[in-house]
Amino acid sequence: MEPVSRSASQERIFSALSGIEGTSLTASDGEAIVEIGADNDCLHLLTSGRITVQTRNQETVTLDAPNVFGEISALTNHPVSGTVRAVGDVTLRRIPLDTINLESGPLATLFRDLATLGIERATGRFHGKYIALVAHDGLKQALVDFVSRHRAFFEARAIVSTLNTSAAITKGTGVQVVRKVRSGPLGGDQQIGALVTEGSIDAVIFLRDPMWAPPHGADVHALVRVCELENVPLATNPASAEALIQHLLA
Ligand code: PGA
Repeated sequence: MEPVSRSASQERIFSALSGIEGTSLTASDGEAIVEIGADNDCLHLLTSGRITVQTRNQETVTLDAPNVFGEISALTNHPVSGTVRAVGDVTLRRIPLDTINLESGPLATLFRDLATLGIERATGRFHGKYIALVAHDGLKQALVDFVSRHRAFFEARAIVSTLNTSAAITKGTGVQVVRKVRSGPLGGDQQIGALVTEGSIDAVIFLRDPMWAPPHGADVHALVRVCELENVPLATNPASAEALIQHLLA
């Protein structure tokens, strides 16, 4: 089996951990070594063989020994973010993160907190879950009026918005939009769709103009579709947006 290339940091981490005590185990072809969503407080050293990691968004990545996995959940205390399976027979060592004698005290805590923050940001988590607000040009004023009516609600929530919608909201209401993506016709609706798929969005309010065929109609349909797929509440006119807010306030 040809090894799949790995980064220098993976190799350095593997050799630094090699001298540390852990539990040895084996797994055979197809066996799940860690499962998505589980709790995990161990670093896993892949000492021989090959694994696949299937991520939350259904990507599959292949890794060869010597290698390390489980670091994100062990460092952050978040649930495991991908299912790891053996490809053929593999051998492993599990090292509980607590057995690595980081000097305890404020610096060790700071190191772990910085690692957690870095991972969250690298994976696109800058805030808690968002409310997404988008409006076609003919309905931007309706959205601004809507946000004004519910100012207290929106001031307390993280808002993600397409570029021109966010400018209209900020100008018309003074409410902060903490994350701006590209303008809808330039791919912004797709960026919001990706956040829906990643589980980062609580609700989408998208005031579509029923009297206009947008150049990015396919992107608009795609955003609506991922909301249906992920069962994320979606309102496409002011009346349903009103009902949605009442539901979120309840
Ligand atoms: P905009 O994009 O906020 O940049 O106008 C919205 C859209 O048309 O999808």
